[in-house]
Amino acid sequence: MPGRIAIDGPAGAGKSTVGEHLARRLGYLYCDTGAMYRAVAWLALHRGMDLNNGAALGELAEKADIVISKPQIADGRQYTVTVHGRDITWDIRTSQVGRAVSTVAGHPEVRRVLIQQQRAIASKGQIVMVGRDIGSIVLPDAELKLYLTASLHERARRRYAEMVERMGEHNPALPSFEEVMQDVEKRDQDDQANMRPAPDAIIVDTDHLNIEQVLDTICQYVEE
Ligand code: C5P
Repeated sequence: MPGRIAIDGPAGAGKSTVGEHLARRLGYLYCDTGAMYRAVAWLALHRGMDLNNGAALGELAEKADIVISKPQIADGRQYTVTVHGRDITWDIRTSQVGRAVSTVAGHPEVRRVLIQQQRAIASKGQIVMVGRDIGSIVLPDAELKLYLTASLHERARRRYAEMVERMGEHNPALPSFEEVMQDVEKRDQDDQANMRPAPDAIIVDTDHLNIEQVLDTICQYVEE
């Protein structure tokens, strides 16, 4: 079985759902690198920092005590994220963080720090790591590299469904489907520079597949 599995793809392609299920099936560690970038972005916003100051944000990433751990609370979370002991698991999912994260993640100073941390996390093997540049930059020698993709409309549909489930259909804070689609499209544009599909990744188009079907497709490659 492959020791390190890299899953990359755009926002809403199903990476984190698939990654978590796959890790559970294999008994591997699951690491969502997007949560690390989001935690740094949240902290930067919380401290009112200039999002264009790469050097200061790199230093912030280096010094921040960000911990991603197994969830102790059953509220739909995949993991718990704390920064300096404060639980920010849901705070990093807000649209405010969503709008800031690509700018923060675009600074080489931030990427250098987080990539180093990601390599350390993966160094023991038996890991499913999801992100944008895992198969190309973080773990270029990963044993299995997957690139998940889906149409913009389908990715927005999934994001919206997740939000309805989490926030409730009648929640006044629930954005419209069109707004969610605009956000996903904007993030695609903002992430273009950070998105590095590995040339040797297996491309899985998830547009017409449900989670079980995606997992079955992927498991064929895992067992090969
Ligand atoms: O996967 P998720 O949407 O949570 O990622 C949040 C953001 O973090 C992405 O939009 C991207 O800007 C950044 N990111 C990145 N490299 C990664 C993972 C995430 O630049 N490996």
